[in-house]
Amino acid sequence: MNAPDKLREECGVVAIHAHPEAEKLAYLGLHALQHRGQESAGIVTSDGEHLHQHKAMGLVADIFGEDVLSNLRGVLAIGHTRYSTAGDSALLNAQPIMVQSNKGTIGIAHNGNLVNALDIRRKLEGQGSIFQTNSDTEVLVHLIALSREQTLPDAIADSLRRVEGAFSLVMISRDRIFACRDPRGFRPLAMGRIPSAAGEKKDTIVFASETCAFDLIGAIYERDVKPGELVIVGPEGVSSRFYAPSPALSSCIFEHVYFARPDSIVFGRSVDQSRDHMGRQLAREVPVDADIVVPVPDSGNTAAIGYAAESGIPFRLGLIRNHYVGRTFIEPQQSVRDFGVKLKLNAVRSMLEGKRVILVDDSIVRGTTSRKIVRMIRNAGAKEVHMRISCPPTISPCFYGVDTPSKRELIAANKSVEEIRKFIDADSLAYLSLEGLKRAAADGEKTTYCSACYSGKYPTKIDVEEIQPAAAVI
Ligand code: SF4
Repeated sequence: MNAPDKLREECGVVAIHAHPEAEKLAYLGLHALQHRGQESAGIVTSDGEHLHQHKAMGLVADIFGEDVLSNLRGVLAIGHTRYSTAGDSALLNAQPIMVQSNKGTIGIAHNGNLVNALDIRRKLEGQGSIFQTNSDTEVLVHLIALSREQTLPDAIADSLRRVEGAFSLVMISRDRIFACRDPRGFRPLAMGRIPSAAGEKKDTIVFASETCAFDLIGAIYERDVKPGELVIVGPEGVSSRFYAPSPALSSCIFEHVYFARPDSIVFGRSVDQSRDHMGRQLAREVPVDADIVVPVPDSGNTAAIGYAAESGIPFRLGLIRNHYVGRTFIEPQQSVRDFGVKLKLNAVRSMLEGKRVILVDDSIVRGTTSRKIVRMIRNAGAKEVHMRISCPPTISPCFYGVDTPSKRELIAANKSVEEIRKFIDADSLAYLSLEGLKRAAADGEKTTYCSACYSGKYPTKIDVEEIQPAAAVI
């Protein structure tokens, strides 16, 4: 099949402090975060003396059976589900990464991308460090091990000050869980609590990339880990310190457009609400006379509901998604036109025939999939197809942990909206404005978002020659 025509999720992390079934909660949390990475997953637990780990390629449910989980003893756990953003996609680079250091054994799980990792790695290798993986995360591990600070929390804080870019991290030691976010708060990381059962002394403290993980394990969302904050949960309870001042916030707006699950609260804001508002705003900005509003499922669903509600045009599920599509499929010898898209989607002819259709999706990356979907809708008898996108044109790659194609492959970086319309063969095409998107994702407070993939204005210094977006950079 062709390269995926979507920006791909980054990674998901989860951490559990003080629960007799910590490994099972980590496993369930990862299952809820599966949409953030489907290539590999891993869990590290601590029984108070030793750390235990298991990681493998594949989906969470396939990796962790009863037998595997029963070997992950302990009351503390961290977990990671991965789609590679830096470092190639081998088991070697699966996380959590576990290492022995002079400050004890630690495990680390990372969501994001360290933009100065290559630089630091070169320096450390020049000083004799030997790296085991290609992952940017390993740089942090070396920094922690080499830090002159005496205690593990101080060494972690010291190392975090030396790295730049996007990182939401959870770490585990013999008796502690650490959770932190980069000073700009690119990636989400939420903190929650499972109230202690009768007879147990302490509540269980949990962390996860998205709150949908909390819902599955019965945890209550308390707050986000703040940008520049390091939260430490240990025998003495929960403590927090700010290892670096936070400059202007740059939370990733694409989490609200596409990545995060709509049932999650991300950056303190309901994702479902954001997407509904994007659809409504889109209907106000670029209305069109039509008979039905149809989402490209599942990513376009909520925005299409918002568009339909605002415009008064009926919402219809005119495309049905097959949820059981694996990585590879055997194509019949006599090749089927648009095979890859047809495996995933099918048009409902009875709904589309003779209709003027507003088709709502969350992005156009290369344009190839949109073209096939428009063709599918036309072949099902639609009279007109008007494409509406619930964010602005994607014109620049991401360097903060999201898999984007190079600028050369981003259709909006190379073609005007009218040229894209012609390419996908729609009757009209329109995008949500950047202002409209920011308004839709605003929570009435001060969340300031990174929107560099729409504006080309990066919130940190980026050496484009040095850092390849989403490639094996180190
Ligand atoms: Fe998110 Fe785009 Fe910024 Fe990357 S460049 S962090 S995808 S908004």
